Amino acid sequence: MGQEHIPAPVAALFPDRQTREDLDHYLTRCLAEATERVRGGPVMPDLDMAKFRQELAAFDFTAPKPARELIDWTIAQLEHGTVHMTNPRYFGLFNPAPTFPSQLADRISGGFNPQLASSGSSPVPVAIEAHVIGAIAQRAGLPSGSTGHFTTSGSEANYTALVCALTRAQPQFATEGVRAFAGPVAMYTSRECQPAWHKIAHQAGVGRQAVRLIATDGGGRMDAKVLAETVHEDQRRGVVPVLISPTAGTTGAGMVDPLKACSDIAREHGVWSHVDAAWGGAALCSERLRGELEGVELADSITIDAHKWFATTMGCGMFITRHPQVLSDAFHVGAEFMPSTASSIDPYLNTVQWSRRFLGLRLFLSLAAAGWEGYAAHVERAVEMIGEVKKGLIARGWSIDNDSRLAVLCASPPPGSAPVRDIVRRLLATGKAWAAVAKFEGRDVVRICATHGEVSAADAAALVAALDASRGNTE
Ligand SMILES: *Cc1c(COP(=O)(O)O)cnc(C)c1O
Repeated sequence: MGQEHIPAPVAALFPDRQTREDLDHYLTRCLAEATERVRGGPVMPDLDMAKFRQELAAFDFTAPKPARELIDWTIAQLEHGTVHMTNPRYFGLFNPAPTFPSQLADRISGGFNPQLASSGSSPVPVAIEAHVIGAIAQRAGLPSGSTGHFTTSGSEANYTALVCALTRAQPQFATEGVRAFAGPVAMYTSRECQPAWHKIAHQAGVGRQAVRLIATDGGGRMDAKVLAETVHEDQRRGVVPVLISPTAGTTGAGMVDPLKACSDIAREHGVWSHVDAAWGGAALCSERLRGELEGVELADSITIDAHKWFATTMGCGMFITRHPQVLSDAFHVGAEFMPSTASSIDPYLNTVQWSRRFLGLRLFLSLAAAGWEGYAAHVERAVEMIGEVKKGLIARGWSIDNDSRLAVLCASPPPGSAPVRDIVRRLLATGKAWAAVAKFEGRDVVRICATHGEVSAADAAALVAALDASRGNTE
């Protein structure tokens, strides 16, 4: 058969070099322009969803469309069809305006598309990720030889912690599952914990009932005394405690559980201690703030999300542990076809995932570009901006419910104001700023977090004014 029978590559999928460069330049310009518009525009989506659904339905994928048209269409839909984390008046959940180096990292990873399952196929990327994990572990005060890996999320990292805890608690867990335990297992976190723990218990096969939500102390921190009593009582009843997970920077209020007390209780009962510092972990960069996380260095493992306060693109979590052998015990497997089988190095032998994206490059480039000092300035700035919001609200008669030194505020309007849910609904309807409703110690509060690295005093003032204007008791 002659070569003429082999069709040409599909140009729409694999265009020639000149076309790629042209599209890259075009995309770069479109994105920069859209980012400018988003910064000055409404925080909330303002898309006509009915019209959008019609347009989407029209994509029946019969007639191919030109790339530029697709770029234009996609950017327009995103510009009008999402809540904007890149608008500095988004004082929202922990979703950041992403650092530019992390956006560059995504482009580079997309270009090479390395497979990070094994060091055999990606020796350099695997080494870069391990280097960053080592640096963060050291920053957290874990001993040398500590290890870990990047995950797609904090939830995956917390799931990894539970699997490690189960694996260490009962070697037969690997083969027999939870049946290997002498009784039902339990894990402990506070009632202010991030709720993914319930799904994690479900996935891990220990059941949602295994999650003990320990009472808080009235200020949003886990009550260590109640924890100790609950663990004790469970053991007395034949329940097997496997994991204690305090939160360092609760999702709702930025509170830090008593890390040392939790770790002491874990040690006393031979239980794995895991600090969920998904958001708060970035405070480790700041000499001024790292004291808030004192005791994190005692943990068996830690979760930190780079895609939260480290502000990389999503999702980019980290799992860090002082017990490399347990990771390997939990995730080892034999696979003849893999290019390498380095039990202490290859991600596919130590993690939940198999095929794996080069996520760690996002934090590597961001840290390399800004240094610890740059990140210290970034987190300290967020804390100061929240201080501005706090002053502004107090001046207007609001009260502050949480006593966090991190960048989250839980605020309540003056007596006689509309309910918090109505205030926040009205705020969002203005599109001027974004804040959340959260529960703090059982009460509805307005939750405000500085997540945008470029948020200004004018943005803080705008939020305060818009919130205060939304608190009237009539519609
Ligand atoms: C966000 C968060 C999580 C979940 O992390 P994801 O990356 O969203 O999966 C877990 N714990 C805490 C404290 C969080 O703030």
